[in-house]
Amino acid sequence: MSPTTLQSTLLPTYPTPRVVFVEGDGVHLVDADGTRYLDFAAGIAVVSLGHRHPAPLAAAHAQLDKLWHTSNLFATDPVRVLATILAERFGGAQAFFCNSGTEANEAALKYARKATGKRGVIALEQSFHGRTAGALSVTGQPSKRAAFEPLLDGVRFVVPNDVEGLRAAMSDDIGLVLLEPVLGEGGVIALDAGFVAAARELDALLAFDEVQTGVGRTGTFFAFEQLGVTPDLVTLAKGLANGLPIGCLLVADAAAGAFEPGDHGSTFGGNPVACAAAIAVCETVDDELLAAVRANGERLRAGLAGLPHVVDVRGRGLLVGVELDVPAGPIVDAALDAGLVTLTSGANVLRLAPPLVVGETHVDQALTILREVM
Ligand SMILES: *Cc1c(COP(=O)(O)O)cnc(C)c1O
Repeated sequence: MSPTTLQSTLLPTYPTPRVVFVEGDGVHLVDADGTRYLDFAAGIAVVSLGHRHPAPLAAAHAQLDKLWHTSNLFATDPVRVLATILAERFGGAQAFFCNSGTEANEAALKYARKATGKRGVIALEQSFHGRTAGALSVTGQPSKRAAFEPLLDGVRFVVPNDVEGLRAAMSDDIGLVLLEPVLGEGGVIALDAGFVAAARELDALLAFDEVQTGVGRTGTFFAFEQLGVTPDLVTLAKGLANGLPIGCLLVADAAAGAFEPGDHGSTFGGNPVACAAAIAVCETVDDELLAAVRANGERLRAGLAGLPHVVDVRGRGLLVGVELDVPAGPIVDAALDAGLVTLTSGANVLRLAPPLVVGETHVDQALTILREVM
């Protein structure tokens, strides 16, 4: 079936895809014609260990052969083990599992309301938290919200890293401050430790949306570890199960106790196959891999800084943004034609989010292709 036929029966919520991929292999993708591409998009920072990584592959296979679904009316081992692993990584937390990043943020919004009795939220301009009504309400990109207003009220948007603006936005009705440690869709802007510390001082719950930055992407398991602040709530999703759908809200023990049976739920949440894959991912993201993520991220950023059209190179670990003096879309298209899969993050920012397992040679290959393309 041609891509055109495929697209015509899908609602046009995405631009028409230019390539049909049929196979993934580590840091490479293969299209229907057998052409290999170096994948520096990883399905939007999702395939964190690379395509068909043996650890989550074996874990998911084994679980597929045992048990697929029970609902949360019953317990399964994978969901309990995964919750324990994440609680240990966080340093004391309880988990709620769902199926996507936007769902994890919906859970955080409800949790904060129930815990504080307040409906006000401070979020960031240019932020992205998802497409469902609550998550969209706190997304700081007016063009994504406009056609769907009115959404939740009581949301105040602050410029990233503007400490005075943050303090000025605070008031008695604010129960939640929701931040991405690195704004993944909004231009790959990393928050300063000082700004995050100021957010922590406010009398509200602090949530980090680590849907894109979590699970090693920035060179530490959670990006907040580099900011010297412990949040009350963390949301995870993209990289957690290497491509199987999963989302997670972690509630720190310090903020525990707001949800009771009946307050929230998800039929598919905690799916045993997705959780089995996620356990394998968490076990693979060890200190050695995290050190490699930091080193390869630095190598990538250093190489990018010398390329034509580059105004600024940003990000942490292997979540990298390149601000250009030209639109990023045509660069992404040209890179794809040259065998490199990349992303944008806003109109003039090229975003690179390769699998965390890339090596130096892959980084250098990507730089060579980008140099030619630019
Ligand atoms: C992708 C993303 C979301 C939304 O996740 P979905 O799985 O697409 O619902 C939310 N927050 C951040 C920071 C993201 O990058």
